[in-house]
Amino acid sequence: MAFDLLIGVPASAWSISLVLLDCVGVIIAFLSSLLAVRLIAKRDVVGGCEACGYDLQGNESGTCPECGEAVKATQ
Ligand SMILES: [Zn+2]
Repeated sequence: MAFDLLIGVPASAWSISLVLLDCVGVIIAFLSSLLAVRLIAKRDVVGGCEACGYDLQGNESGTCPECGEAVKATQ
């Protein structure tokens, strides 16, 4: 209770904010795992950059415009 008085926020509000914080953590973990899966899937794209997965089909500069990785000749 002394803690509540110091901060000036009721304990129930703290509980709710902690639950929300937990939810945010779970959502961030879920989204980052989705992102990781997408990045891994992107790397398997034929003609994609080996470093970042950027689609390099039709690229003639010899470097990935996304990350600057040297492009290997595909022919
Ligand atoms: Zn790249």
